[in-house]
Amino acid sequence: MPKAMLNVDKCQPEQCANGVCAARKDCPTKAIYQEEPLDMPVIDPFRCRGCTKCMNGCPMRAFYFV
Ligand code: SF4
Ligand code: SF4
Repeated sequence: MPKAMLNVDKCQPEQCANGVCAARKDCPTKAIYQEEPLDMPVIDPFRCRGCTKCMNGCPMRAFYFV
């Protein structure tokens, strides 16, 4: 099963409202963590089911799958 990975060169938290990762709300397993607004989010590979919903939720298309 492919897992979501974050392209840190594409992710720009300042592009998301209030610096809060917009893709987090789209993740059904709460696999995307962000310690503080404007921080780079982190994906928990054990929670990720590879559903690709985060890809559509990210304005920068920063998620990819391997
Ligand atoms: S991964 Fe996408 S949605 Fe999440 S903080 Fe980065 S740019 Fe925003
Ligand atoms: S692929 Fe699905 S489960 Fe994995 S981080 Fe993205 S939204 Fe969450």
